Amino acid sequence: MTTATLSGICPECETDLTVPPIVRGETLSCPECMLTLRVEDVQDGRLSLQMVEVQLRDWGQ
Ligand SMILES: [Zn+2]
Repeated sequence: MTTATLSGICPECETDLTVPPIVRGETLSCPECMLTLRVEDVQDGRLSLQMVEVQLRDWGQ
């Protein structure tokens, strides 16, 4: 039995996410909180997601 989609839970807003198959290291955006999430691990069709901290560069000062 193959899984056509993967599922995971947003670590920020705990929304259930269903995504097309992706691999570890790829990123996706949570449709609810718009956070960028990186796939840390994929196991049995379940994703371990981690927030990606977007670092804003301060070009001034
Ligand atoms: Zn979210």
